Amino acid sequence: MPDSRARLLEGKPIADEIRTAVAEDVATFTATNGRPPGLAVVIVGRDAPSTVYLEQILRGCLKVGIHAEFVELEGEATERSVSATLRRLNTDPSVDGVIVQMPLPPTIRLREVIDAIDPAKDIDGIHPLNAGLLRLGYDGFLPATAHAAVEILRRSGIEIAGRDAVVIGRSAVVGMPAAFLLVREDATVTVCHSRTRDLAGHVRRSDIVVVAAGRPGLVTGAMLKPGAVVVDVGINLVDGHIVGDVHFASAVEVASAITPVPGGVGPLTNALLLTHLIRAAERQASARRPSARRPSGASSEPSAALRGDR
Ligand code: NAP
Repeated sequence: MPDSRARLLEGKPIADEIRTAVAEDVATFTATNGRPPGLAVVIVGRDAPSTVYLEQILRGCLKVGIHAEFVELEGEATERSVSATLRRLNTDPSVDGVIVQMPLPPTIRLREVIDAIDPAKDIDGIHPLNAGLLRLGYDGFLPATAHAAVEILRRSGIEIAGRDAVVIGRSAVVGMPAAFLLVREDATVTVCHSRTRDLAGHVRRSDIVVVAAGRPGLVTGAMLKPGAVVVDVGINLVDGHIVGDVHFASAVEVASAITPVPGGVGPLTNALLLTHLIRAAERQASARRPSARRPSGASSEPSAALRGDR
């Protein structure tokens, strides 16, 4: 009897390929500039799960020759101390990319922190300038998770153009940028959220289902169109296990392809962040060369890198 279960879209093999390419780029950058590319990870307060995630990023950087370090704020962090730290990193020529530990403590406004990051070093695409560049189709930094959600489809040979896609979740860092990227890949995209009236109906009409809601089991196999492709971005801790937003056991029987959690979007997110960092480093190094000055963050052409080509 033929196996009708969905093909697994695993992130690790793709991430390994990307890391190999990044290691070569890092070696070239280091030889040309006399220093490795540098990443600063700003830690604001103590939050165990997100520190684990950041330590993974740190290890990934060190493996490919990127200089990465935690910048921990002393004492109780305030908006002023976080902004001052970011401004210092913005002017440090050995730091090419900056990411900030999320979620922030409740006393610190996200917008204040985001505004303090130099868009040229904003390798996780959280600054409004990079969000605007994405929206308009120009070259900027993509939020790595949204980038990974679409890149896993592209690199797995899944056809996107012309297909109906639904994105569940409309956050600025995952849902909305994933939707814009799918539109850019010529999908017809519906965005659902907590006030959507007929979630199951939207899912049932879709060839591609991207779920980024942070709700375990939100999408089940019974909701899916047979043969749909499912990208599960969710990361939830349930009874000591990491699970996604999709009820995997039922979905795998109906979908034609599905990302596992863990092991799908997550590994690719980390690898793509490295590609963003090397791109930030190359751009800043080239902007510092006297012959090639241009404004940070922006260029006049829609970018291949933004489409995930690198
Ligand atoms: P978020 O800011 O909490 O946004 C969640 C979104 O889901 C919101 O737009 C919310 O709607 C929507 N939503 C919540 N419940 C819903 C429901 N019952 N039906 C339909 N929509 C619903 O979360 P996020 O930062 O975007 O993250 C989303 C998920 O991705 C989380 O599980 C997070 O852990 C995971 N994540 C994964 C990675 C990775 O590398 N794989 C990285 C980052 C985040 P409203 O706008 O109406 O509230």
